[in-house]
Amino acid sequence: MTRTVYVNGEYLPEGEAKVSIFDRGFLFADAVYEVTSVLDGKLIDFEGHAVRLDRSLKELDMASPCSKEELLEIHRKLVELNGIEEGLVYLQVSRGSDGDRDFVFPSADTPPSLVLFTQNKPGLADSPAAAKGAKIISIEDIRWGRRDIKTVQLLYPSMGKMMAKKAGADDAWLIEDGYVTEGTSNNAYYVKNGKIVTRPLSNDILHGITRAAVLRLAAEAQMEIEERLFTIEEAKDADEAFTTSASAFVMPVVEIDGVTLGDGTPGPIAKRLREIYLEESRKKAV
Ligand code: PLP
Repeated sequence: MTRTVYVNGEYLPEGEAKVSIFDRGFLFADAVYEVTSVLDGKLIDFEGHAVRLDRSLKELDMASPCSKEELLEIHRKLVELNGIEEGLVYLQVSRGSDGDRDFVFPSADTPPSLVLFTQNKPGLADSPAAAKGAKIISIEDIRWGRRDIKTVQLLYPSMGKMMAKKAGADDAWLIEDGYVTEGTSNNAYYVKNGKIVTRPLSNDILHGITRAAVLRLAAEAQMEIEERLFTIEEAKDADEAFTTSASAFVMPVVEIDGVTLGDGTPGPIAKRLREIYLEESRKKAV
């Protein structure tokens, strides 16, 4: 089925949507993005994604393409036009183009490019991958130093995912100065003796919208949480582990660098957090 996508004010069939070859998103990865999940035809954590988008734009001195209300309207319209019950909405804002390639930013009145499209993913919530749990490998984190800004510089995370696939695993966790930063496209946690351990927020990791919601729900459920640096050795010695992201919610981890965690099936805390997160987000979905 041909999707209807959004590009700079227009809703078009995907084959007709066009962006300039001089767009700085294309030439310089000078663009930021958000991914919002859809359950029951409604948007999950929209407010959090809109606030983070605004922050990413401000950190890069990039103009905002439209208001939060307009963004919500575009998201909703795409979900409706494409009949999405479960899936994702991808949004990208780039610094646009003034018709040539130049390292110097174009003048501030150059309009940013705004592109959105949906991805239909039936079974996103009731996922077989989550029932099985993910196998993780660890690799060195060689990304740039502002991982708190959600830019489209995703070549290394993409290579990390390929390294994982090649090793017969599902994903990779990134290690810097001996400590786990995060997953290629998710935040990372382990659980030992009932305590959830995850890296604190800084410029070293993306401030996950799902992370914020899951930690709040875990605290409300009286679970113990420790935000501190941790090594991959600690995680391998854990009772269980998991990741969080808007596209996979809470994903249990059952193996790290070939070491099986617990009995090799998703742990009780990851499973419970996935349930609570899905239940609560469905209630608050817009
Ligand atoms: N960390 C990285 C590097 C990511 O790319 C993502 C999501 O794409 C996350 C964490 C999770 O963030 P969120 O929960 O907002 O999807």
